[in-house]
Amino acid sequence: MSDTLVLCDFDGTITLQDTNHTIMNRYAGEAWIPVNLAWRRFEVSTETRVRQQYSLVRAPLDELVALVAREVGIDPGFPAFVEFCQTRAWGVHIVSDGFDRYIQRVLAKYDLGHLPFTSNKIFSRDGQIDFRFLQQDPCCPCGMCGNCKRFVVRQLRPPGGRIVFVGDGLSDRGAAEAADLVFAKGRLSDYCDREGIPFIEYKNFEDVQRELRARLLVL
Ligand SMILES: [Mg+2]
Ligand SMILES: [Zn+2]
Repeated sequence: MSDTLVLCDFDGTITLQDTNHTIMNRYAGEAWIPVNLAWRRFEVSTETRVRQQYSLVRAPLDELVALVAREVGIDPGFPAFVEFCQTRAWGVHIVSDGFDRYIQRVLAKYDLGHLPFTSNKIFSRDGQIDFRFLQQDPCCPCGMCGNCKRFVVRQLRPPGGRIVFVGDGLSDRGAAEAADLVFAKGRLSDYCDREGIPFIEYKNFEDVQRELRARLLVL
């Protein structure tokens, strides 16, 4: 029986590059940036941001997936971290406000395709790219999420167990508020500081592994 589930954000946490920024930088000039900044100020939702940004992209989805496969790499300590968790029977689950096709492709590149994830969906229909934002939680105070990570934390928490969350960005704030132990860097650690949410600062998964070993007193 496993009483610990480790939830990891994908972009910027597991990956070294942000998939969305990689795509937009390549296909959308600089016009994608203002709506990104508005999203960071919590003025527009993930769905609004995504639809505006992709309206600037003139390329088939397969080409975007191929670009991501070429240019997005992962934290070199992540595969060892997954093993560390698996040998302790802790689940590892990825939770992303990005898209399934990119996550699948990057994980497959590193033989991590077995990891479960929860994300929004991107697909092509009649040559047009479209999206599904699956987990919008009507109770979520964020009100801006495509895939609400607070909702995922609530859904996946093992009965009587704990959720460890590892993240780096503003779409992680709901998860950071709901999880039992939080690892944060980047904009997420600024947010946690501001809001008084307890967290452990980290740079990479080697840090997370070391801290979990020390704090949870596991070998
Ligand atoms: Mg992130
Ligand atoms: Zn939310």
